[in-house]
Amino acid sequence: ASALVLSLSACGGSRGGDAGGGADDGSNEGARIGVAMPTQQSERWIADGENVQAQLEELGYEVDLQFANDDIPTQVSQIENMINGGVEALVIASIDGTTLTSVLETAEAQDIPVIAYDRLINGSETVDYYTTFDNFQVGVQQATSLLIGLGVLDENGEETGEEGPFNVELFAGSPDDNNATFFWDGAMETLQPYLDSGVLNVPSGQTEFDQAAILRWLPATAQARMEDLLTVGGGERIDGVLSPYDGLSIGIISALTSGGYSADDLPVVTGQDAEVGSVQSIIAGEQYSTIFKDVRELGERAVLMVDALMKGEEPEVNDTETYDNGEKIVPSYLLESQIVTVDNYEEVLIDSGYYTAEEVQ
Ligand code: BGC
Repeated sequence: ASALVLSLSACGGSRGGDAGGGADDGSNEGARIGVAMPTQQSERWIADGENVQAQLEELGYEVDLQFANDDIPTQVSQIENMINGGVEALVIASIDGTTLTSVLETAEAQDIPVIAYDRLINGSETVDYYTTFDNFQVGVQQATSLLIGLGVLDENGEETGEEGPFNVELFAGSPDDNNATFFWDGAMETLQPYLDSGVLNVPSGQTEFDQAAILRWLPATAQARMEDLLTVGGGERIDGVLSPYDGLSIGIISALTSGGYSADDLPVVTGQDAEVGSVQSIIAGEQYSTIFKDVRELGERAVLMVDALMKGEEPEVNDTETYDNGEKIVPSYLLESQIVTVDNYEEVLIDSGYYTAEEVQ
């Protein structure tokens, strides 16, 4: 991360540009950038916000970073305040991707470019660029790790011939987060053949997104749903749970342990984000897997986009067909994610410097 930041600062222009940004010497020194993040309830978003802020500051930008406590009106008013405070670009990870249309019109009227960060902003013409991970692929990885954990696939993703049948229950993310359907679609495409052939069975019968979705990604809601599933499923043993986010996995695991599963005999539970508590749980043999999304890379991408826009250049993208927000296809830069289990966490998370060994102990 720091290498990229350094090389960016090397071409970041001279000090002393005007506060309005875009000084004649090409420097954007002092230009103010608004960074709107959804919540501080989940570590990943804190890391996202802090990364983007630090990297923008390295380049000499001033940053107005706000977290909205997962409350839509709060996020809208934070963005209004950023606009009133004179920001020259907005980086937004939305709570509900459809609720920002009117505040973004204000941004557009003032020629403030908008970058959707991680989550697509829907129903608005005014989203200029998007950077995220390949969200469909994240879902494929979640389902693949579930199948590996159950022994249906080996570590290379090859079928082992194991026919089960395995009982699994399925969770999806927040229906107002555009990513949630991508994760679900990727996961279900991967699981469907095994559901069809009977290798996997869903005791509750709840296989629709709407039945599986957890509004606002709330761990307590997932916990309550898992408690219900243990009863509606007729008390059969559950072998695996598709969970799209570490916070939900924690709620799910709590429901399972209070529902009679011992910590060393839990179903295979997946996750996402490699949050510290869940990495610890993976090391302890409770949660089976998570998906690592290196938010340092995502932050760099967003910062590269901002910096290009502020210099009047065109940001680099690598996808111009996937992310249709209902008004336009938003030019995107997609990053890759990785499955993490107890077998590779050291290599992926510690050796890469994402966490120290002490942090996950
Ligand atoms: C992000 C995930 C995260 C989820 C809950 C999604 O939009 O892409 O990484 O797990 O929100 O915060």
